[in-house]
Parts: sequence; structure tokens; C-alpha cells
Amino acid sequence: MSKEEETADVLIRGGLVLAMDDAGSIYRDGAVAVRGSQILAVGPAQEISARFRSDTVLDARGQVVLPGLVNAHTHAPMTLFRGLSDDIALEPWLERIWALEKRYATAENVAAGAELAFAEMIRSGTTTAADMYWQRDAVMETARKAGFRLVNGPSFIDFVGPDGIQLEQRLPLAREFIEKYRDDPLVSVCVQVHTTYTVPPPVLEMARDLAREYGLLFITHAAESRGEMAAVRERYGKTPIEVLDEAGLLGGQTLLAHCVHLSDDEIALLAERRTAVAHCPESNLKIGSGIARIPDFLKAGVTVGLGTDGAASNNDLDLWGEMRTAALIQKGLRYDPTVMPAPVVLRMATIEGARALGLGQVTGSLEAGKRADLISIDLDRLHLTPLFDIYSHLVYAAKSADVRNVMIDGRMVMQDGALLTIDEGGIKERVRRIAEKFAGT
Ligand SMILES: [Zn+2]
Repeated sequence: MSKEEETADVLIRGGLVLAMDDAGSIYRDGAVAVRGSQILAVGPAQEISARFRSDTVLDARGQVVLPGLVNAHTHAPMTLFRGLSDDIALEPWLERIWALEKRYATAENVAAGAELAFAEMIRSGTTTAADMYWQRDAVMETARKAGFRLVNGPSFIDFVGPDGIQLEQRLPLAREFIEKYRDDPLVSVCVQVHTTYTVPPPVLEMARDLAREYGLLFITHAAESRGEMAAVRERYGKTPIEVLDEAGLLGGQTLLAHCVHLSDDEIALLAERRTAVAHCPESNLKIGSGIARIPDFLKAGVTVGLGTDGAASNNDLDLWGEMRTAALIQKGLRYDPTVMPAPVVLRMATIEGARALGLGQVTGSLEAGKRADLISIDLDRLHLTPLFDIYSHLVYAAKSADVRNVMIDGRMVMQDGALLTIDEGGIKERVRRIAEKFAGT
């Protein structure tokens, strides 16, 4: 290594740096060097400062710097329906939401809902999310403008959606979407279907072939509620996992949201096939779907990320609350405080979530060569004093309001608590105006 100084665009220096890499690196007085969209180096501040020169130095003293959080499953534009249809079961909930979507899921409205969601996620330290919703072009363009890392893709259903598109039209449109975004440095594409009870096997196979053709991640909801289990059992005499397996959809590039109702054999099958799971504990609790057996998944070696699901069933997009819930419900349910320890839960919200989305080489940890997706948390707070164990604080005590700075793909999108890519007041106003139309529906 040459003793000469290299140039970095930004040096983040002086804070506690939590890399979330496989070695579990923590630097008490650490630094991160960023050039363009990439992390150049992570390490002790003294070493990084000696090696890199930069005109822009961000002082992170009193803060912890860590990778941006990864929301492994959401429906961003559903912020539009937040709090509109609560305290009812999944199936009537879906019916109500679908009726609203039919009338109001226009590209313009959906883009507004998505922009509010990206603002909410950035403000709470989330830098990447996997989204499933209608009007995906509008959502993708909104993400690019906001500088938010989104995984999104064509979603197949067996009926005419609120976008007015018939099933036969979906395949050519899907290809167009994939071609348009597949090489984008910020957003990435996947192929999705809603569930095995809204999508028959031939459509599942169509989605499978498309995902394989382009080498893309396949995402679907699976085994979420008892109602879904009964409906799939009645139609096929099988479980959703068995239906997906038969359609050739369980593999290393598949991500299943929920997986609340799985047998031991199905958990072992997911581990063997390296199929990942997006755990959405708050949505599952709120809709009364149940509690996924996450400690058993982890023991079997399944990759598990953490998702909020949409804001209509959560009702926020806050991964800090999600982390706490994910840890606490299992401890209480199993009368065992040792399950789901804080470092494991934080990994689910960062590197494991990134791996679940097929972005393990891109984001989810602070390592040289990865994209610069990072956040800083203010530690100078009453509820974070004193500090013994940073993992414990982040999972059990920190709040989304403690997030101070957010960088995505090397671009600052929130600085000292101010959003830089989204007009926060403007988007709240736009969403309120759209929501006024829902009154009485
Ligand atoms: Zn969902």
C-alpha cells in the first residue's frame, strides 16, 4: 500500500462505526471513506484519515454510523390507506382495500403515496426496500427522484387490476419494465406474484420462466393467514409452499413474505433450497395472522429479512419498531429471553435483509466496494444513556427519531434531520388531499 494520500469525496469520521460485516467489526472511533456511490474503506478514524484526503468531512462524534436498514417487504403506496381499514381480518381487509384501489390507484395518486413512504423510510433510516404494488413505473420513477434504493417488479395476478391491465398484456409490459430498469445503479428489478390463492399455477409458471430468463429475484406472499391456508388447501389439496414447490418456485432466488404457517419439513425445505423469508411481525400481529417461527427458521439456516408490510396493515414503515417487536414476541411466546438476541435482529434489518433481496454484495453492511448506503444515529439522548452495548441500544431503546443522517448510493438524502430529496410538507399536503376523497367509501 502506498503511503500517498488517496482522495475521497466524503469522510465520515469520529463516531462509533458498526460495520455489520461477517466479522462483526465495531470501531469505537471509526471512519468511512466514500467516493462516488461506493464505500472505499471502513476502519479506525486515525488510519482512514491518514490514508484519505477529502474536502467534505462529516463529523459523526456522539453518533453511531451503520448500514442503512433494509425493508424486505412493503407496499409503499399503501400509505394512502393508513388507518382506513383497521381491526378486521386479512380477507375482508383485502376486499376493502381492493375496492378502494379500483377507484383511486391512479399513477398520480400511487406516486404520491410512494413519495410519502420513501420520506417516512428515509427519515427512519431505511435505505432499501422491496416493493409490490400497482403502477410500478410511477413508483420506480419516484424512488429514483428520491434517491431511494428500491427493488420492484412486475406483479402477476389472475384478474384485471386497478391499472386496467389484462393478464395477456402483463407479460410484454413486464419485459419492457425489466429492460428499462435492469441496469439502473440505484433501483433493481424482480418478478412477483401476489399469492398462490390469487394466482393459478400456469401464471406462477409464467412468472417463474420470466424470472429465470433474466436471472431475477422472485417474490411472493406465502402462508400468511389461516384463511389463505384453508383456501389453498380447498383448491389444490396442498399448502402454499407445496404449490410453489410444484411450480418450481422454491430456489435461491426466491423471497417469501410472511411464512407464518409452515411445518418443520417446510422450514427444512426452505433452508435446503436457500429460499429467503421476509418476516413482517407487526402486520402479522395486527391482522391476527399469527407469529412466524423465526427462531426455528434461523436454526435451520434460512435467510430472514425484516419487513414492515404496507402502512395499511402495520401502520407505519418504521423498522426500529419492527426490530423490537420481532425480538420481544418470540421471547414472550417461548418463555425464553435468549432467543432472537439483539445482534441477530439487527442483522435481519441490515445484511440478512440485503441478502434476502439478492443485494448482499451491494448493501446491508459497511464494507469496501459496497454501495455507500449508511445512516447515523444520535447517541446523545436520554433513552440511550448510558451506553454499554450498541446492539442492545439499537434494537431495544433507539427510535426512528434518533436517525440524523442518511446517505444512499453515496448521496446525502437526509442531513442533520432535514430531508434533501423530498419536500416533506408538500408531500403530506398532497396525500391529505388525495385521502379526502376516500371519506365515506
Ligand atoms: Zn405484503
